Amino acid sequence: MAASMRALVKDKAAEGIVMREVAVPEPGPNEVLVEVEKTAICGTDLHIYKWDDWSQRTIKPPLVIGHEFVGRISKLGTAVEGYELGERVSAEGHVVCGVCRNCKAGKQHLCPNTIGIGVNRDGAFAEYVTVPATNLWRIPDAIPSELAAFFDPFGNAAHCALQFDLIGEDVLITGAGPIGIIAAGICRHVGARHVVISDINDYRLQLARNMGASHTINVKHESIAGAVKGLGIDGFDIGLEMSGNANAFNDMLHSMFHGGRIAMLGLMPNGSGVDWDQVIFKGLQLHGIYGRRMYETWYKMTQMVLSGFPLQNTLTHHIPIDEFEHGFELMASGQCGKVVCDWSGQL
Ligand code: NAD
Ligand code: ZN
Repeated sequence: MAASMRALVKDKAAEGIVMREVAVPEPGPNEVLVEVEKTAICGTDLHIYKWDDWSQRTIKPPLVIGHEFVGRISKLGTAVEGYELGERVSAEGHVVCGVCRNCKAGKQHLCPNTIGIGVNRDGAFAEYVTVPATNLWRIPDAIPSELAAFFDPFGNAAHCALQFDLIGEDVLITGAGPIGIIAAGICRHVGARHVVISDINDYRLQLARNMGASHTINVKHESIAGAVKGLGIDGFDIGLEMSGNANAFNDMLHSMFHGGRIAMLGLMPNGSGVDWDQVIFKGLQLHGIYGRRMYETWYKMTQMVLSGFPLQNTLTHHIPIDEFEHGFELMASGQCGKVVCDWSGQL
């Protein structure tokens, strides 16, 4: 194996990302080295690219970015058991402490000491990445690599959507980003009645329809209240907030039925106001969502894809890694679903 590899590096505290030669990382005793086949671009990668407030607070350059990936195990740490060289894997992007109350109780998604791959440690926009063996998820042969590459955000969508019983329920999703689009598909897959999704981007609303959304709202010229009226319902039973937009969230609160339940995934701007009357007088439940369950969400996602869930409808661009700048431009434009970059040269 070569001593150096190509990687997308945030090399300094400024906008941009560069392709660079860096040393191939060495797996620790409980880690594996994965030869990366494909890496998908996450909104987080775009934040890091743009060097926004959150990245300035969080990222310590130089850092190899990226956490949505699939590849093959190419080296095992000395203490790793249960995995073999050559196995095709993806991995959970949150590395947990393993010793806190929640980790000990099997609730690793609630670990307060989480470290993010491609955020707090070197990531997967590289020819090789190291991850703790406990974070690996085996990919069955029947699932194509270009889909396995974005199981991480699929997991955000699944963890959020599966928070509540959806059978026969009317669901509102605010935000048809890649995660909202996948969530629309999950709601349809598990048997919701109306699956309504809002955005300001018609391209993405069409993708949500392709995944099974029954009704789309472009809030630039239609209102959620209008949709409630049009459907002849009293309000939504379930809300999935996936836009990170405070206005969208408040519109959601106003269109919920009494006793409704809301799962909040989108990152709200600091200090966003909330119309508490809506929460209190309607007896709404709000549930914050971070990451995915380890590893029950991964299991459910895998079985959904194996039993016909149309995840492929969310993949709009599959490009060679050398065209990464184009990929980031697409993500910034919003004229895309998931964008997957290939390292294998076999596109
Ligand atoms: P994204 O930014 O691509 O999607 C957000 C979508 O919301 C965009 O399509 C945008 O056009 C749309 N939007 C903007 N204003 C809107 C409005 N007023 N009404 C309706 N839609 C509006 O992001 P994504 O990757 O799909 O992620 C969705 C959200 O979840 C983001 O806020 C992201 O930061 C967050 N996120 C949270 C977690 C977590 O663990 N909690 C994990 C991943 C992403
Ligand atoms: Zn922990």
